[in-house]
Amino acid sequence: MGEKKKKIVKIIKVDIDKCNGCRACEVACSAFHASPKYSSNNPARSRIRVIHEPLRDVYVPIRAGDYTPAECTGRHTYTINEKEYDECSFCGVSCPSRDIFKEPDSGLPLKCDMCESDPPLTEPMCVQWCLADALTYEEREEEVEEEEKREEMEIGLESLANKYGLQKIMDTVARMSMSKKGLKHKAKEEN
Ligand code: SF4
Ligand code: SF4
Repeated sequence: MGEKKKKIVKIIKVDIDKCNGCRACEVACSAFHASPKYSSNNPARSRIRVIHEPLRDVYVPIRAGDYTPAECTGRHTYTINEKEYDECSFCGVSCPSRDIFKEPDSGLPLKCDMCESDPPLTEPMCVQWCLADALTYEEREEEVEEEEKREEMEIGLESLANKYGLQKIMDTVARMSMSKKGLKHKAKEEN
């Protein structure tokens, strides 16, 4: 068992009765995480997606959770106000079953990082841009077991290794490194 430690837990509360499906949260999230920041926006790169079933007229914002290399063995269906929703509709996991919460170009998993930045934001971007107040931000102090935090890069590498195999990743990195060295060498010779 790890050591207990006080920690600020960040919470985004969702009031689906207030969500009107405007998708400003998706735009704001993808723009904040663009590189460089705010240089582009593409909801497919957002770490929050608004699930909508057109015939059922309810919008549900879902934030991206953890990456998993394996599909879960069961499926849930939800019935809310007598309307049944598709399997996996409200799941925030980036998993092989579907395309949601994957970076569209690389296929790398996307995860909500609560807009951690330096300097910190007063409120996450999706909350700031939800003008309908469907999203509200709260912080509370909790005693939790200390856990090792995994870097986004490590999670991304794990997903690539699962997809292509570790050896292929290592060979590719070695090839890229050689080609970079070659370029540097050539630049020196030209100077
Ligand atoms: S908290 Fe930040 S990273 Fe998470 S979904 Fe909202 S805007 Fe995206
Ligand atoms: S910005 Fe707010 S109202 Fe608009 S889709 Fe997102 S959660 Fe819903």
